[in-house]
Amino acid sequence: EETEPVEEVRPQSPVKPMTATEVKVNVSIPEAAERAAATGADGVGLLRMEHMILSLNQTPAKFIDENGEDAYITEIVEGIRGVADEFYPRPVRVRTLDAPTDEFSQLEGGEDEPDEHNPMLGYRGIRRSLDRPDVFAHELEAFRRLYELGYDNVEIMFPLVNDAEDIYQAKELMKKAGIDPEKRRWGAMIETPASALSVEGMAEAGIDFASFGTNDLTQYTLAVDRNNGHVADRFDELHPAILRLIGDVIETCREHDVDTSICGQAGSKPEMARFLVNEGISSISANIDAVRDVQHEVKRVEQKLLLDSVR
Ligand code: PEP
Ligand code: MG
Repeated sequence: EETEPVEEVRPQSPVKPMTATEVKVNVSIPEAAERAAATGADGVGLLRMEHMILSLNQTPAKFIDENGEDAYITEIVEGIRGVADEFYPRPVRVRTLDAPTDEFSQLEGGEDEPDEHNPMLGYRGIRRSLDRPDVFAHELEAFRRLYELGYDNVEIMFPLVNDAEDIYQAKELMKKAGIDPEKRRWGAMIETPASALSVEGMAEAGIDFASFGTNDLTQYTLAVDRNNGHVADRFDELHPAILRLIGDVIETCREHDVDTSICGQAGSKPEMARFLVNEGISSISANIDAVRDVQHEVKRVEQKLLLDSVR
């Protein structure tokens, strides 16, 4: 009796491959934490704070006005805590609030938001935080409480910084909030050309890591609006100018013992992973559905680098 021919296809192993480069996962909503942790990722490379705040349906000012500062801080603590629990002791990198004014203006209380011509070039990220240290203090207080609760796997990441001055100011505010920057892991997103060119000063200011926000880095370097369909074909995260900025930052960071990472969408692309591992990035953060493929791509590239080095 004839047997069926055996298919010569090896299914992708369900087992997480061991890699020297860490592969992490991006989490936009705390509800996705369990699924994200189940990927076997080495941690969370980006936990966005936006959803925790925007889902309150009120601007922070309005919410605080009606519910008090403590309720606002508690919302942030609980949002982060769910993810930090799920991943413990794997690190969870939490980004401070980075919503543009046109998103805040949709919420109750949004009429007080500035009406900006170019919200993406405007009052958002660390700029807003440094401009309103009284409001930013609530976010920092949430981190302080998490550390007090023992969540030493929580890391703090600042968005849209341009230079060392932004870092020094943010660091001062951390200290003022009772967080010891020497004891905690914190860092900056590299998402403007200025930040990429200023990373040496930022390293001297004490950051532990620099993480590429390639969505914005691409938008600002190529002057291509990331939300404009008319120029979508020009939105190329693998453009030689972007890769050059990234490669230079990785090299500078290595010289200063600063970890490098990527948390933009491009981290989910195998071509980008190939480039980054070759450049010596410390970790790559991908979307939940892309983690396994990125893990395997990283493994392939690392094996090839190893073979090339002994040949
Ligand atoms: C980025 O800019 O790549 C990033 C991760 O931040 P966001 O997409 O939230 O601007
Ligand atoms: Mg960004």
